[in-house]
Amino acid sequence: MKDKKILKMTEKILNKYQLCDCCLGRLFRQIEIGKPNKQKGESIRNNLKFDKKIIPRDCWLCEGLLDETEHFANLVSDAVKEYEFDTFLIGSKIDEDILKREEELWDFIKTEDAEPIKMEINREIGKILEKKLEKTVDFETPDIMAVVDTAFDVVNLQIKSLFIYGRYKKLKRGFPQTKWPCRICRGRGCRACNYTGKMYDTSVEELASNKALDQTRGTNESFHGSGREDIDALMLGNGRPFVLEIKNPKIRSIDLSLYEKKTNTYAKDKIEISNIRFSVRDEIVRIKSSEFRKTYSVILEGEKPLNKEKLKEVAQILQGKKIKQLTPTRVAHRRAEKVRERKIYNCDIESVEDNIARITIETESGMYVKELISGDNGKTKPNISEMIGIPCKVKELDVIKIKGE
Ligand SMILES: [Zn+2]
Ligand SMILES: [Zn+2]
Repeated sequence: MKDKKILKMTEKILNKYQLCDCCLGRLFRQIEIGKPNKQKGESIRNNLKFDKKIIPRDCWLCEGLLDETEHFANLVSDAVKEYEFDTFLIGSKIDEDILKREEELWDFIKTEDAEPIKMEINREIGKILEKKLEKTVDFETPDIMAVVDTAFDVVNLQIKSLFIYGRYKKLKRGFPQTKWPCRICRGRGCRACNYTGKMYDTSVEELASNKALDQTRGTNESFHGSGREDIDALMLGNGRPFVLEIKNPKIRSIDLSLYEKKTNTYAKDKIEISNIRFSVRDEIVRIKSSEFRKTYSVILEGEKPLNKEKLKEVAQILQGKKIKQLTPTRVAHRRAEKVRERKIYNCDIESVEDNIARITIETESGMYVKELISGDNGKTKPNISEMIGIPCKVKELDVIKIKGE
């Protein structure tokens, strides 16, 4: 490196600040691109006058931090020991004093060409670990992000969640899709919830995640369903799509067929999962926003005996109709009051006996079916009770098919 301008500038810097080769080389990003900063620094220094050739024992800027990359790499490899991963990324938290001195130096030589010390530290630790652990640095979506706090020798890990896609059937009534914390104690446990912290003993979420948490040794999970059925409804047919997010998994390469088998034994007669495969975070948005058509089997009960012909007539009229629904009374406490409009694709009367009728309804996703039957005091219009002139309510409601996918 014999560029006169750079050598002159280096003399000026070294007259004021003692720098190690790394900290010197880092000031000139544009020269000898691709070479490590240490080599850049060396090659500049070799062309300086004799008294500037000596490498200072204490670098004014980094105070020897760059000699510690091996040590930081060891800290990280220790911290990630328990985790299975293919890709990683290193981040760091550098002492404020060092960052201040770096700014001061940049101001002094008025450069915008310098590489920040943080970048060099991250890169060098990454390089050591790629070799040592035989893993790859990934800037986009690493399995593990390790942030080294250089002042305190602490490593903080962020583990990428593991996502599992599947479909579930719910074969028993009386439990919700997701965990429902006790309303009184909000999950801490109290007398009302028998110290379980929950409103219900179990949920689809708990049944579907139990074995996955075992296998991955994750810390907790999140369950994302493509819509949800009511607590007292079954979910039958081809099942409802879901994505299970396992947080902080220690093992990522689990045997999914084993997970499916174990879960279906564990949750026997309650839920059944199928179509299991690995997934990605983006799929949550997809299954949540997808407009899957739903087919319901409904048993409705009238206050008086029902007329089959009248019901059939009404079913005919509802075919293709858009239903306006103001937020139902039963969910109004947790949702904003607004009108939503959903379409009925099909409505078939299967059987009528006295004041009980069984009907099949295919609707756009998001329809409040119970309210379509009862009318919810006029909040849903049109509604079956009003159309047949007999107040009705839902006795049983099951999802028998979810279209799409
Ligand atoms: Zn230095
Ligand atoms: Zn409680």
